[in-house]
Amino acid sequence: MKAMHISRIVDLNKDRQPLDQVELSLPEPGEFEVRIRVSVCGVCHTELDEIEGRTRPPQLPVVPGHEVIGVVDKRGSGVSRFSVGDRVGVGWIHSSSGGNMENVNEKFQATGRDVDGGYAEYMVAHQDYAFLIPNVFSDSEAAPLLCAGSVGYRALKLAGVRDGQKLGFTGFGGSAHIVLQLAQFLYPAIQIYVFARDPGQQQHALELGAHWAGPTEASPDQPMDAIIDTTPAWKPVLAAMENLRPGGRLVINAIRKEDNDLDILQTLDYGRHLWLEKEIKTVANVTAEDIRQCLEIASRIPLKPEVEKYQFSDANQALCDLKAGKVRGAKVLMLEPAQ
Ligand SMILES: [Zn+2]
Repeated sequence: MKAMHISRIVDLNKDRQPLDQVELSLPEPGEFEVRIRVSVCGVCHTELDEIEGRTRPPQLPVVPGHEVIGVVDKRGSGVSRFSVGDRVGVGWIHSSSGGNMENVNEKFQATGRDVDGGYAEYMVAHQDYAFLIPNVFSDSEAAPLLCAGSVGYRALKLAGVRDGQKLGFTGFGGSAHIVLQLAQFLYPAIQIYVFARDPGQQQHALELGAHWAGPTEASPDQPMDAIIDTTPAWKPVLAAMENLRPGGRLVINAIRKEDNDLDILQTLDYGRHLWLEKEIKTVANVTAEDIRQCLEIASRIPLKPEVEKYQFSDANQALCDLKAGKVRGAKVLMLEPAQ
């Protein structure tokens, strides 16, 4: 089968072909595992973190990709949840301990980092960590919900907002454009403020019904009850802390931050950025339940993520475009041309 490999750690500014296209033998599903014929795999910022070594795969080479949609084509022994032909998705959680803290348990293993993921024609997944995809979504619409949507949904829960409050997003790409719509559905009177350096992303936010959109360092006249940060940088963190109300909370939704603008932390001012009981919380990974809930809520809206499609063979281009910040909605790789 065709697959893409991360076989070395690179600087994407210097090496624009980080993935190697390879031919691999078909994976066989083990006990309680299904084999999935992949149709679409989303492109996530975490792939950049893997390729550039910030969250390094424990073994190389590895097949990346953790927003996987496809059809069950073979069942291992003991599989009871799925039949051949079922359309399923797989997210960042490959396996863990179960329970509501399985996302931070030491048993947590990540799809496409600790085990082979979905940049391939086939992959295998445990039946407890594969999810039926509601019919309302096309394959490419469903893919971003498996990570950008689900981890973003967990960030929304951790933000602790209530209806009628002011929720900010700093950064507005694959994840935030989905979480904005989840928030509007769950909290109809919520007011959304979007801080993004790219005018196109500000415009996208307004089109989706944001109350306000402006640049990263702007200060709207009202302080935020909570802000979700989806950027790889530090400047938006300081700007967000300044825009929080007393007791407000910033949730950082990033597996790793890049260090290009780390110097700005030298300007951290306790009184301006932190005092008055402001909080910073991070979000880590997802539980299986987060993914189930996200898919269920998104299907009721129904939420249609905006996607930019790339041919599978253009995976390197998709990653370089993501690195360059060329994002409107979410990027997906098409394994099968029909979707
Ligand atoms: Zn991801």
